[in-house]
Amino acid sequence: MSYARNRRKKIRFKVDFEFGKAELCEDDYNTEINRYIEINKQTGITLVHGAFNYECEECGKNWKMWLELGVEGENKVMPCPFIIRCKCGGNAVHTNWQEDIYLPHEMPLGENMSYFKLDKRRLKSHDENACGIPVLR
Ligand SMILES: [Zn+2]
Repeated sequence: MSYARNRRKKIRFKVDFEFGKAELCEDDYNTEINRYIEINKQTGITLVHGAFNYECEECGKNWKMWLELGVEGENKVMPCPFIIRCKCGGNAVHTNWQEDIYLPHEMPLGENMSYFKLDKRRLKSHDENACGIPVLR
């Protein structure tokens, strides 16, 4: 197991403490995501681990799209789309890749933060085309 993964495990353990659910984590990332989904269901807290920037080709609006745990990143179980539909109806594309955000540890999603939601239904049915669902706020 790499140092980075070990470090993430410690952090994940801390997050679990916050939820009052201190348990040993399994090695399998799929199990970790399943545990996260269970915690998310029980607490209603959505965790994000980073963000990508999207820019609308129509109105020019910038969208900072946060990534729910499991969408892209180290625990990736599904990707997120390269192009999303802006509120104006135009296409917003992933841009300024150098400004992608990678958080040192997960944090709870704020209520005004746009994000890619884990498609839990398609993940459960092992759909290979499962992809993060854009939620614009
Ligand atoms: Zn737009």
